[in-house]
Amino acid sequence: SLRSPLSLPPLTQPLSTTDYVLSLLRTSSPPAAAGKNLDSLTYLVDASSGESLTYGELLRQVRSLAASLRRRFNAGDVAFVLSPASLHVPVLYLALMSIGVVVSPANPIGSEVEVTHQVEVSKPVIAFATWRTVKSLRASCFPLGVVLMDSPEFLSFLTKPVSEDSLNPVNVNQTDPAAILFSSGTTGRVKGVLLTHRNVIASTAVSHQRSLNDPVDYDRVGLFSLPLFHVFGFGMMIRAISLGEKLVLLQRFEMEAMMKAVEKYKVTGMPVSPPLIVALVKSELTEKYDLSSLRSLGCGGAPLGKDIAERFKRKFPGVDIVQGYGLTESTGPAAATAGPEEMVRYGSVGRISENIEAKIVDPSTGEALPPGKNGELWLRGPVIMKGYVENEKATAETLDQEGWLKTGDLCYIDSEGFLYIVDRLKELIKYKAYQVPPVELEQILQSNPDVVDAAVVPFPDEDAGEIPMAFIVRKPGSNLNEAQVIDFVAKQVAPYKKVRRVAFINAIPKNPAGKILRRELTKIAVNGNASK
Ligand code: AMP
Repeated sequence: SLRSPLSLPPLTQPLSTTDYVLSLLRTSSPPAAAGKNLDSLTYLVDASSGESLTYGELLRQVRSLAASLRRRFNAGDVAFVLSPASLHVPVLYLALMSIGVVVSPANPIGSEVEVTHQVEVSKPVIAFATWRTVKSLRASCFPLGVVLMDSPEFLSFLTKPVSEDSLNPVNVNQTDPAAILFSSGTTGRVKGVLLTHRNVIASTAVSHQRSLNDPVDYDRVGLFSLPLFHVFGFGMMIRAISLGEKLVLLQRFEMEAMMKAVEKYKVTGMPVSPPLIVALVKSELTEKYDLSSLRSLGCGGAPLGKDIAERFKRKFPGVDIVQGYGLTESTGPAAATAGPEEMVRYGSVGRISENIEAKIVDPSTGEALPPGKNGELWLRGPVIMKGYVENEKATAETLDQEGWLKTGDLCYIDSEGFLYIVDRLKELIKYKAYQVPPVELEQILQSNPDVVDAAVVPFPDEDAGEIPMAFIVRKPGSNLNEAQVIDFVAKQVAPYKKVRRVAFINAIPKNPAGKILRRELTKIAVNGNASK
Protein backbone atom coordinates (compact mmCIF):
# COMPACT_ATOMS: atom_id res chain seq x y z
CA SER A 1 0.00 0.00 0.00
CA LEU A 2 3.03 2.32 0.09
CA ARG A 3 3.25 4.99 -2.55
CA SER A 4 6.68 5.15 -4.13
CA PRO A 5 9.14 7.28 -2.16
CA LEU A 6 10.04 10.77 -3.29
CA SER A 7 13.61 11.95 -3.17
CA LEU A 8 14.38 14.71 -0.66
CA PRO A 9 17.45 16.95 -0.36
CA PRO A 10 20.25 15.17 1.57
CA LEU A 11 19.64 15.64 5.27
CA THR A 12 23.19 16.88 5.88
CA GLN A 13 22.75 19.83 3.50
CA PRO A 14 22.02 23.04 5.44
CA LEU A 15 18.69 24.26 4.08
CA SER A 16 15.86 26.33 5.52
CA THR A 17 12.22 25.84 4.59
CA THR A 18 12.35 29.28 2.98
CA ASP A 19 15.31 28.49 0.73
CA TYR A 20 13.79 25.17 -0.24
CA VAL A 21 10.39 26.61 -1.14
CA LEU A 22 11.86 29.53 -3.06
CA SER A 23 14.18 27.20 -4.94
CA LEU A 24 11.19 25.13 -6.02
CA LEU A 25 9.50 28.31 -7.19
CA ARG A 26 12.53 29.45 -9.18
CA THR A 27 14.02 26.27 -10.53
CA SER A 28 11.58 23.45 -10.81
CA SER A 29 9.45 25.11 -13.50
CA PRO A 30 6.11 25.03 -11.77
CA PRO A 31 3.42 25.46 -14.41
CA ALA A 32 2.37 28.95 -13.38
CA ALA A 33 5.85 30.37 -12.89
CA ALA A 34 7.55 28.76 -15.89
CA GLY A 35 9.05 31.36 -18.13
CA LYS A 36 7.29 34.25 -16.42
CA ASN A 37 8.76 37.32 -14.85
CA LEU A 38 8.08 36.99 -11.12
CA ASP A 39 7.03 40.65 -11.01
CA SER A 40 4.18 39.93 -13.39
CA LEU A 41 2.97 36.97 -11.36
CA THR A 42 0.51 37.69 -8.56
CA TYR A 43 1.01 35.70 -5.40
CA LEU A 44 -1.48 37.08 -2.91
CA VAL A 45 -4.64 39.12 -3.09
CA ASP A 46 -6.33 40.33 0.09
CA ALA A 47 -10.01 40.14 -0.83
CA SER A 48 -11.05 42.52 1.95
CA SER A 49 -8.76 45.39 0.88
CA GLY A 50 -8.08 44.44 -2.74
CA GLU A 51 -4.33 44.84 -2.11
CA SER A 52 -2.01 42.38 -3.75
CA LEU A 53 1.58 41.19 -3.80
CA THR A 54 3.53 39.79 -6.74
CA TYR A 55 6.06 36.97 -6.43
CA GLY A 56 8.83 39.49 -7.18
CA GLU A 57 7.65 41.66 -4.27
CA LEU A 58 7.36 38.62 -2.03
CA LEU A 59 11.01 37.72 -2.62
CA ARG A 60 12.20 41.29 -2.01
CA GLN A 61 10.11 41.75 1.13
CA VAL A 62 11.28 38.44 2.59
CA ARG A 63 14.88 39.46 2.00
CA SER A 64 14.43 42.96 3.47
CA LEU A 65 12.56 41.74 6.51
CA ALA A 66 15.11 39.01 7.19
CA ALA A 67 17.91 41.57 6.95
CA SER A 68 16.07 43.96 9.28
CA LEU A 69 15.33 41.31 11.88
CA ARG A 70 18.41 39.14 11.99
CA ARG A 71 20.37 41.32 14.44
CA ARG A 72 17.60 40.89 17.02
CA PHE A 73 17.69 37.12 17.23
CA ASN A 74 19.80 34.16 18.14
CA ALA A 75 19.30 30.91 16.27
CA GLY A 76 16.47 28.89 17.79
CA ASP A 77 14.64 31.91 19.24
CA VAL A 78 10.87 31.69 18.99
CA ALA A 79 8.65 34.42 17.53
CA PHE A 80 4.98 34.41 18.45
CA VAL A 81 2.65 35.57 15.66
CA LEU A 82 -0.84 36.80 16.46
CA SER A 83 -2.33 38.26 13.31
CA PRO A 84 -5.32 37.82 11.05
CA ALA A 85 -4.48 36.63 7.55
CA SER A 86 -2.85 39.42 5.55
CA LEU A 87 -0.24 40.00 2.85
CA HIS A 88 2.33 40.36 5.64
CA VAL A 89 1.84 36.96 7.24
CA PRO A 90 3.51 34.73 4.60
CA VAL A 91 6.34 37.26 4.26
CA LEU A 92 6.90 37.17 8.01
CA TYR A 93 6.83 33.34 8.22
CA LEU A 94 9.34 32.99 5.36
CA ALA A 95 11.64 35.73 6.65
CA LEU A 96 11.76 34.28 10.17
CA MET A 97 12.38 30.73 8.99
CA SER A 98 15.15 31.93 6.65
CA ILE A 99 17.14 33.24 9.63
CA GLY A 100 16.55 30.23 11.87
CA VAL A 101 13.84 31.84 14.01
CA VAL A 102 11.04 29.48 15.01
CA VAL A 103 7.57 30.67 13.92
CA SER A 104 4.79 30.15 16.44
CA PRO A 105 1.47 31.43 15.11
CA ALA A 106 -1.73 31.38 17.13
CA ASN A 107 -5.40 32.17 16.63
CA PRO A 108 -5.74 35.98 16.51
CA ILE A 109 -9.16 35.81 18.10
CA GLY A 110 -8.07 33.43 20.85
CA SER A 111 -9.06 34.41 24.38
CA GLU A 112 -6.53 35.86 26.80
CA VAL A 113 -6.44 32.54 28.64
CA GLU A 114 -5.71 30.59 25.45
CA VAL A 115 -3.07 33.02 24.27
CA THR A 116 -1.41 33.05 27.69
CA HIS A 117 -1.20 29.26 27.68
CA GLN A 118 0.27 29.28 24.17
CA VAL A 119 2.89 31.87 25.12
CA GLU A 120 3.83 29.81 28.17
CA VAL A 121 4.26 26.75 25.97
CA SER A 122 6.25 28.26 23.11
CA LYS A 123 8.35 30.72 25.18
CA PRO A 124 8.84 33.38 22.51
CA VAL A 125 11.35 36.22 22.76
CA ILE A 126 9.20 38.47 20.60
CA ALA A 127 5.61 38.75 19.43
CA PHE A 128 4.37 39.99 16.08
CA ALA A 129 0.84 41.31 16.49
CA THR A 130 -1.47 43.99 15.16
CA TRP A 131 -2.93 46.91 17.07
CA ARG A 132 -6.08 44.88 17.54
CA THR A 133 -4.59 41.54 18.56
CA VAL A 134 -1.91 42.96 20.86
CA LYS A 135 -4.63 43.42 23.48
CA SER A 136 -4.92 39.70 24.13
CA LEU A 137 -1.19 39.59 24.82
CA ARG A 138 -1.20 42.16 27.52
CA ALA A 139 -1.98 40.22 30.67
CA SER A 140 0.36 37.37 30.10
CA CYS A 141 3.27 38.25 28.09
CA PHE A 142 5.12 41.36 28.98
CA PRO A 143 8.02 42.01 29.13
CA LEU A 144 7.97 40.39 25.71
CA GLY A 145 9.13 42.58 22.83
CA VAL A 146 6.26 43.36 20.46
CA VAL A 147 6.37 44.42 16.82
CA LEU A 148 3.11 45.73 15.38
CA MET A 149 2.62 44.47 11.85
CA ASP A 150 0.43 47.42 10.95
CA SER A 151 2.98 50.01 12.11
CA PRO A 152 5.22 52.22 9.95
CA GLU A 153 8.21 50.47 11.60
CA PHE A 154 7.18 47.10 10.16
CA LEU A 155 6.60 48.64 6.72
CA SER A 156 10.07 50.12 6.82
CA PHE A 157 11.46 46.64 7.58
CA LEU A 158 9.70 45.28 4.49
CA THR A 159 11.06 47.94 2.18
CA LYS A 160 14.57 48.39 3.56
CA PRO A 161 16.97 48.25 0.64
CA VAL A 162 19.44 45.36 0.93
CA SER A 163 22.31 44.61 -1.34
CA GLU A 164 22.90 40.92 -2.05
CA ASP A 165 26.51 40.94 -0.93
CA SER A 166 25.85 42.55 2.45
CA LEU A 167 24.15 39.35 3.51
CA ASN A 168 26.03 36.46 5.02
CA PRO A 169 23.59 33.64 4.75
CA VAL A 170 22.40 32.28 8.09
CA ASN A 171 23.21 28.61 8.38
CA VAL A 172 20.00 26.73 9.04
CA ASN A 173 20.14 22.96 9.41
CA GLN A 174 17.19 20.88 8.29
CA THR A 175 17.03 19.28 11.72
CA ASP A 176 16.61 22.72 13.37
CA PRO A 177 13.15 23.71 14.60
CA ALA A 178 11.10 25.72 12.08
CA ALA A 179 7.69 26.15 13.66
CA ILE A 180 5.61 25.50 16.72
CA LEU A 181 2.02 24.97 15.60
CA PHE A 182 -0.74 24.41 18.10
CA SER A 183 -2.77 21.24 17.75
CA SER A 184 -6.48 21.66 17.99
CA GLY A 185 -6.91 20.18 21.44
CA THR A 186 -10.60 19.42 21.05
CA THR A 187 -10.29 16.81 23.79
CA GLY A 188 -7.20 17.65 25.85
CA ARG A 189 -5.37 20.93 26.40
CA VAL A 190 -3.82 22.58 23.33
CA LYS A 191 -0.27 21.35 22.76
CA GLY A 192 2.63 23.00 20.89
CA VAL A 193 3.80 20.77 18.05
CA LEU A 194 7.46 21.30 17.22
CA LEU A 195 8.16 20.89 13.51
CA THR A 196 11.65 20.95 12.02
CA HIS A 197 12.64 22.40 8.67
CA ARG A 198 13.02 18.81 7.52
CA ASN A 199 9.38 18.13 8.44
CA VAL A 200 8.12 21.11 6.44
CA ILE A 201 10.47 20.43 3.51
CA ALA A 202 9.31 16.79 3.31
CA SER A 203 5.67 17.78 3.46
CA THR A 204 6.10 20.48 0.81
CA ALA A 205 8.01 18.09 -1.47
CA VAL A 206 5.00 15.78 -1.54
CA SER A 207 2.32 18.40 -2.12
CA HIS A 208 4.46 20.13 -4.76
CA GLN A 209 5.08 16.90 -6.64
CA ARG A 210 1.43 15.89 -6.48
CA SER A 211 0.41 19.12 -8.13
CA LEU A 212 2.99 18.66 -10.87
CA ASN A 213 1.68 15.12 -11.44
CA ASP A 214 -1.78 16.51 -11.87
CA PRO A 215 -1.37 19.09 -14.61
CA VAL A 216 -4.37 21.26 -15.37
CA ASP A 217 -5.29 23.29 -18.40
CA TYR A 218 -6.12 26.47 -16.50
CA ASP A 219 -4.29 28.86 -14.16
CA ARG A 220 -4.99 27.83 -10.60
CA VAL A 221 -6.43 30.48 -8.32
CA GLY A 222 -6.83 29.41 -4.70
CA LEU A 223 -9.16 30.99 -2.17
CA PHE A 224 -8.18 30.82 1.48
CA SER A 225 -10.64 31.22 4.25
CA LEU A 226 -8.62 28.74 6.28
CA PRO A 227 -6.53 30.20 9.06
CA LEU A 228 -2.81 30.57 8.31
CA PHE A 229 -1.89 29.63 11.91
CA HIS A 230 -3.24 26.06 11.61
CA VAL A 231 -1.20 23.36 9.86
CA PHE A 232 -3.70 23.09 6.98
CA GLY A 233 -3.50 26.76 5.97
CA PHE A 234 0.20 26.98 6.85
CA GLY A 235 1.02 24.05 4.56
CA MET A 236 -1.29 25.08 1.72
CA MET A 237 0.19 28.57 1.70
CA ILE A 238 3.74 27.18 1.41
CA ARG A 239 2.66 24.74 -1.28
CA ALA A 240 1.16 27.59 -3.34
CA ILE A 241 4.47 29.48 -3.24
CA SER A 242 6.39 26.41 -4.36
CA LEU A 243 4.13 26.31 -7.44
CA GLY A 244 3.85 30.01 -8.21
CA GLU A 245 0.09 29.92 -7.73
CA LYS A 246 -2.20 32.81 -7.00
CA LEU A 247 -3.96 32.92 -3.65
CA VAL A 248 -6.86 35.08 -2.59
CA LEU A 249 -7.13 35.65 1.17
CA LEU A 250 -10.32 36.12 3.12
CA GLN A 251 -9.63 37.44 6.60
CA ARG A 252 -12.36 35.39 8.13
CA PHE A 253 -14.86 32.95 6.81
CA GLU A 254 -18.20 34.34 5.77
CA MET A 255 -20.31 32.44 3.27
CA GLU A 256 -21.45 35.27 1.04
CA ALA A 257 -18.07 37.04 1.04
CA MET A 258 -16.55 33.76 -0.03
CA MET A 259 -18.94 33.31 -2.96
CA LYS A 260 -18.41 36.91 -4.05
CA ALA A 261 -14.67 36.30 -4.07
CA VAL A 262 -15.05 33.10 -6.11
CA GLU A 263 -17.01 35.03 -8.72
CA LYS A 264 -14.77 38.10 -8.72
CA TYR A 265 -11.38 36.34 -8.85
CA LYS A 266 -12.49 33.30 -10.88
CA VAL A 267 -11.31 31.00 -8.13
CA THR A 268 -10.54 27.44 -9.27
CA GLY A 269 -9.87 25.74 -5.95
CA MET A 270 -10.24 26.12 -2.20
CA PRO A 271 -8.90 24.21 0.76
CA VAL A 272 -11.94 23.69 2.97
CA SER A 273 -13.14 21.92 6.06
CA PRO A 274 -16.26 19.70 5.95
CA PRO A 275 -18.64 22.29 7.48
CA LEU A 276 -18.08 24.44 4.40
CA ILE A 277 -19.05 21.57 2.09
CA VAL A 278 -22.18 21.08 4.18
CA ALA A 279 -22.92 24.80 3.90
CA LEU A 280 -22.43 24.77 0.11
CA VAL A 281 -24.78 21.81 -0.22
CA LYS A 282 -27.47 23.37 1.94
CA SER A 283 -27.21 27.07 1.04
CA GLU A 284 -29.48 28.67 -1.52
CA LEU A 285 -27.10 31.61 -1.82
CA THR A 286 -25.05 29.53 -4.25
CA GLU A 287 -27.64 30.37 -6.93
CA LYS A 288 -26.87 34.08 -6.64
CA TYR A 289 -23.21 33.88 -7.67
CA ASP A 290 -21.29 32.58 -10.63
CA LEU A 291 -19.26 29.74 -9.14
CA SER A 292 -18.53 28.09 -12.49
CA SER A 293 -14.77 28.70 -12.25
CA LEU A 294 -14.50 26.21 -9.36
CA ARG A 295 -12.82 22.92 -10.31
CA SER A 296 -11.75 21.30 -7.07
CA LEU A 297 -12.00 21.58 -3.30
CA GLY A 298 -9.33 20.13 -1.05
CA CYS A 299 -11.19 18.89 2.00
CA GLY A 300 -9.61 17.85 5.28
CA GLY A 301 -9.28 18.42 8.99
CA ALA A 302 -12.43 16.58 10.04
CA PRO A 303 -14.58 13.78 8.70
CA LEU A 304 -16.68 14.38 5.58
CA GLY A 305 -19.86 12.33 5.36
CA LYS A 306 -20.36 10.19 2.26
CA ASP A 307 -23.93 11.41 1.91
CA ILE A 308 -22.84 15.06 1.98
CA ALA A 309 -20.07 14.37 -0.54
CA GLU A 310 -22.54 12.73 -2.92
CA ARG A 311 -25.06 15.53 -2.56
CA PHE A 312 -22.29 18.03 -3.22
CA LYS A 313 -21.37 16.22 -6.42
CA ARG A 314 -25.00 16.28 -7.57
CA LYS A 315 -25.26 20.02 -6.92
CA PHE A 316 -21.80 20.83 -8.34
CA PRO A 317 -21.04 18.14 -10.94
CA GLY A 318 -18.04 20.06 -12.26
CA VAL A 319 -16.26 20.35 -8.93
CA ASP A 320 -14.09 17.52 -7.56
CA ILE A 321 -13.54 16.93 -3.88
CA VAL A 322 -9.96 15.93 -3.10
CA GLN A 323 -9.97 14.42 0.38
CA GLY A 324 -6.99 14.65 2.67
CA TYR A 325 -6.25 13.43 6.15
CA GLY A 326 -3.55 14.67 8.41
CA LEU A 327 -2.50 16.01 11.76
CA THR A 328 -0.46 18.91 12.99
CA GLU A 329 1.89 16.18 14.27
CA SER A 330 2.41 14.91 10.69
CA THR A 331 2.97 18.40 9.24
CA GLY A 332 -0.39 18.14 7.50
CA PRO A 333 -1.40 15.62 4.85
CA ALA A 334 -0.59 12.00 5.63
CA ALA A 335 -3.09 10.59 3.16
CA ALA A 336 -5.00 12.03 0.22
CA THR A 337 -7.00 11.00 -2.76
CA ALA A 338 -5.36 11.52 -6.14
CA GLY A 339 -6.76 11.19 -9.63
CA PRO A 340 -10.37 10.84 -10.73
CA GLU A 341 -10.99 7.23 -9.58
CA GLU A 342 -9.80 7.93 -6.05
CA MET A 343 -11.81 11.12 -5.71
CA VAL A 344 -15.12 9.34 -5.89
CA ARG A 345 -14.33 6.88 -3.11
CA TYR A 346 -16.04 9.24 -0.76
CA GLY A 347 -15.83 7.13 2.37
CA SER A 348 -12.04 7.06 2.14
CA VAL A 349 -9.44 9.78 2.67
CA GLY A 350 -7.21 8.21 0.01
CA ARG A 351 -3.95 6.34 0.25
CA ILE A 352 -1.02 7.06 2.55
CA SER A 353 1.28 9.79 1.19
CA GLU A 354 4.68 9.22 -0.36
CA ASN A 355 7.50 8.90 2.23
CA ILE A 356 5.15 7.84 5.03
CA GLU A 357 4.84 4.36 6.51
CA ALA A 358 1.55 3.39 8.08
CA LYS A 359 0.19 0.54 10.13
CA ILE A 360 -3.04 -0.24 11.92
CA VAL A 361 -2.43 -1.35 15.47
CA ASP A 362 -4.56 -3.00 18.13
CA PRO A 363 -4.47 -0.20 20.71
CA SER A 364 -4.46 -2.58 23.67
CA THR A 365 -1.69 -4.97 22.52
CA GLY A 366 0.33 -2.81 20.10
CA GLU A 367 0.09 -5.61 17.51
CA ALA A 368 -0.20 -4.76 13.81
CA LEU A 369 -3.56 -5.73 12.27
CA PRO A 370 -4.36 -7.00 8.74
CA PRO A 371 -6.28 -5.03 6.07
CA GLY A 372 -9.94 -4.40 6.83
CA LYS A 373 -9.54 -4.48 10.63
CA ASN A 374 -10.25 -1.45 12.82
CA GLY A 375 -7.39 -0.21 14.97
CA GLU A 376 -5.27 2.83 15.77
CA LEU A 377 -3.36 4.35 12.86
CA TRP A 378 0.40 4.71 13.44
CA LEU A 379 2.58 6.76 11.10
CA ARG A 380 6.33 7.09 10.58
CA GLY A 381 8.50 9.16 8.25
CA PRO A 382 10.23 12.51 7.69
CA VAL A 383 7.07 14.59 8.22
CA ILE A 384 6.49 13.34 11.76
CA MET A 385 7.01 16.07 14.38
CA LYS A 386 9.99 16.27 16.67
CA GLY A 387 7.69 16.30 19.72
CA TYR A 388 5.47 18.45 21.90
CA VAL A 389 7.20 21.51 23.31
CA GLU A 390 7.76 21.43 27.07
CA ASN A 391 5.75 18.25 27.42
CA GLU A 392 7.89 15.13 27.62
CA LYS A 393 5.08 13.06 29.00
CA ALA A 394 2.74 13.74 26.09
CA THR A 395 5.61 13.28 23.63
CA ALA A 396 6.48 9.87 25.11
CA GLU A 397 2.84 8.82 24.97
CA THR A 398 2.51 9.83 21.33
CA LEU A 399 5.87 8.96 19.72
CA ASP A 400 7.32 5.54 20.39
CA GLN A 401 11.01 4.54 20.50
CA GLU A 402 11.01 3.55 16.84
CA GLY A 403 9.60 6.86 15.65
CA TRP A 404 5.97 5.78 15.20
CA LEU A 405 3.35 8.46 15.79
CA LYS A 406 0.20 7.16 17.47
CA THR A 407 -2.49 9.21 15.78
CA GLY A 408 -5.35 8.50 18.20
CA ASP A 409 -7.56 7.86 15.18
CA LEU A 410 -9.52 4.66 14.84
CA CYS A 411 -9.09 3.59 11.20
CA TYR A 412 -8.84 0.73 8.80
CA ILE A 413 -6.95 0.28 5.54
CA ASP A 414 -8.61 -1.81 2.84
CA SER A 415 -6.82 -4.39 0.71
CA GLU A 416 -6.12 -1.76 -1.96
CA GLY A 417 -4.44 0.57 0.51
CA PHE A 418 -7.26 3.08 0.97
CA LEU A 419 -7.50 4.61 4.42
CA TYR A 420 -10.84 5.00 6.19
CA ILE A 421 -11.17 7.10 9.35
CA VAL A 422 -13.75 5.60 11.70
CA ASP A 423 -13.45 8.02 14.63
CA ARG A 424 -11.17 9.50 17.26
CA LEU A 425 -10.33 6.80 19.82
CA LYS A 426 -10.74 9.27 22.65
CA GLU A 427 -14.09 10.48 21.42
CA LEU A 428 -15.80 7.11 21.21
CA ILE A 429 -18.91 6.90 23.36
CA LYS A 430 -19.05 3.86 25.66
CA TYR A 431 -22.65 2.64 25.73
CA LYS A 432 -22.62 -0.31 28.12
CA ALA A 433 -19.59 -2.19 26.82
CA TYR A 434 -20.10 -1.06 23.23
CA GLN A 435 -18.17 1.61 21.35
CA VAL A 436 -20.37 4.12 19.57
CA PRO A 437 -18.59 6.35 17.04
CA PRO A 438 -20.18 9.82 17.25
CA VAL A 439 -19.06 10.69 13.72
CA GLU A 440 -21.18 7.93 12.23
CA LEU A 441 -24.28 9.24 14.00
CA GLU A 442 -23.49 12.84 13.03
CA GLN A 443 -23.32 11.89 9.38
CA ILE A 444 -26.67 10.14 9.57
CA LEU A 445 -28.23 13.14 11.29
CA GLN A 446 -26.79 15.53 8.71
CA SER A 447 -28.50 13.57 5.96
CA ASN A 448 -31.88 14.59 7.41
CA PRO A 449 -33.28 17.45 5.30
CA ASP A 450 -34.58 19.21 8.44
CA VAL A 451 -31.12 19.24 10.00
CA VAL A 452 -28.68 22.04 9.24
CA ASP A 453 -25.94 20.67 11.47
CA ALA A 454 -25.51 18.05 14.17
CA ALA A 455 -23.07 16.80 16.78
CA VAL A 456 -23.13 13.80 19.09
CA VAL A 457 -21.49 13.60 22.52
CA PRO A 458 -21.58 11.19 25.46
CA PHE A 459 -24.09 11.96 28.21
CA PRO A 460 -23.53 10.37 31.63
CA ASP A 461 -26.03 7.63 32.44
CA GLU A 462 -26.32 5.45 35.54
CA ASP A 463 -27.23 2.22 33.77
CA ALA A 464 -25.27 2.47 30.55
CA GLY A 465 -22.27 4.55 31.64
CA GLU A 466 -22.74 6.87 28.68
CA ILE A 467 -25.53 7.37 26.18
CA PRO A 468 -25.22 9.16 22.81
CA MET A 469 -26.75 12.62 22.96
CA ALA A 470 -27.39 14.60 19.77
CA PHE A 471 -27.22 18.35 19.44
CA ILE A 472 -29.27 19.47 16.46
CA VAL A 473 -29.41 22.72 14.53
CA ARG A 474 -32.84 22.68 12.89
CA LYS A 475 -33.60 24.21 9.51
CA PRO A 476 -35.44 27.52 10.04
CA GLY A 477 -39.17 26.81 10.30
CA SER A 478 -38.74 23.10 10.96
CA ASN A 479 -40.71 21.47 13.80
CA LEU A 480 -38.48 18.41 14.04
CA ASN A 481 -38.77 17.03 17.58
CA GLU A 482 -36.78 14.76 19.87
CA ALA A 483 -38.78 11.60 19.14
CA GLN A 484 -38.42 12.09 15.38
CA VAL A 485 -34.66 12.54 15.68
CA ILE A 486 -34.31 9.40 17.80
CA ASP A 487 -36.47 7.46 15.37
CA PHE A 488 -34.61 8.72 12.30
CA VAL A 489 -31.32 7.38 13.62
CA ALA A 490 -32.75 4.20 15.16
CA LYS A 491 -33.92 3.03 11.72
CA GLN A 492 -30.38 3.19 10.39
CA VAL A 493 -28.14 1.78 13.12
CA ALA A 494 -27.63 -1.19 15.43
CA PRO A 495 -29.68 -0.84 18.63
CA TYR A 496 -26.67 -0.03 20.86
CA LYS A 497 -25.80 2.95 18.65
CA LYS A 498 -29.18 4.65 18.99
CA VAL A 499 -29.31 8.35 19.91
CA ARG A 500 -31.05 8.43 23.31
CA ARG A 501 -31.20 12.10 24.13
CA VAL A 502 -31.61 15.21 21.95
CA ALA A 503 -31.16 18.93 22.41
CA PHE A 504 -31.73 21.73 19.92
CA ILE A 505 -29.15 24.48 19.63
CA ASN A 506 -28.52 27.51 17.39
CA ALA A 507 -25.05 26.51 16.22
CA ILE A 508 -22.59 23.70 16.82
CA PRO A 509 -19.44 25.15 18.42
CA LYS A 510 -16.44 24.46 16.17
CA ASN A 511 -12.82 25.54 16.01
CA PRO A 512 -11.43 27.32 12.94
CA ALA A 513 -10.38 24.02 11.37
CA GLY A 514 -13.98 22.83 11.44
CA LYS A 515 -13.64 20.45 14.36
CA ILE A 516 -16.54 20.10 16.74
CA LEU A 517 -15.68 21.40 20.21
CA ARG A 518 -17.03 18.38 22.08
CA ARG A 519 -15.92 19.53 25.49
CA GLU A 520 -18.12 22.61 25.18
CA LEU A 521 -21.10 20.53 24.12
CA THR A 522 -20.56 18.08 26.97
CA LYS A 523 -20.56 21.07 29.33
CA ILE A 524 -23.81 22.37 27.85
CA ALA A 525 -25.29 18.87 28.00
CA VAL A 526 -24.54 18.51 31.68
CA ASN A 527 -25.43 22.08 32.68
CA GLY A 528 -28.51 22.08 30.49
CA ASN A 529 -28.04 25.27 28.49
CA ALA A 530 -29.77 24.08 25.37
CA SER A 531 -33.48 23.50 24.82
CA LYS A 532 -34.59 19.89 25.00
P1 AMP B 1 -5.16 18.76 13.81
O1 AMP B 1 -3.81 18.41 14.31
O2 AMP B 1 -5.78 19.89 14.53
O3 AMP B 1 -5.16 18.97 12.33
O4 AMP B 1 -6.11 17.49 14.07
C1 AMP B 1 -5.80 16.23 13.52
C2 AMP B 1 -7.00 15.33 13.61
O5 AMP B 1 -8.04 15.79 12.76
C3 AMP B 1 -6.74 13.93 13.16
O6 AMP B 1 -6.10 13.15 14.15
C4 AMP B 1 -8.15 13.44 12.83
O7 AMP B 1 -8.83 13.03 13.99
C5 AMP B 1 -8.82 14.69 12.30
N1 AMP B 1 -8.85 14.69 10.83
C6 AMP B 1 -8.05 15.37 9.99
N2 AMP B 1 -8.39 15.15 8.70
C7 AMP B 1 -9.43 14.31 8.70
C8 AMP B 1 -10.23 13.69 7.68
N3 AMP B 1 -10.03 13.92 6.39
N4 AMP B 1 -11.22 12.86 8.09
C9 AMP B 1 -11.43 12.61 9.41
N5 AMP B 1 -10.74 13.17 10.40
C10 AMP B 1 -9.73 14.00 10.07
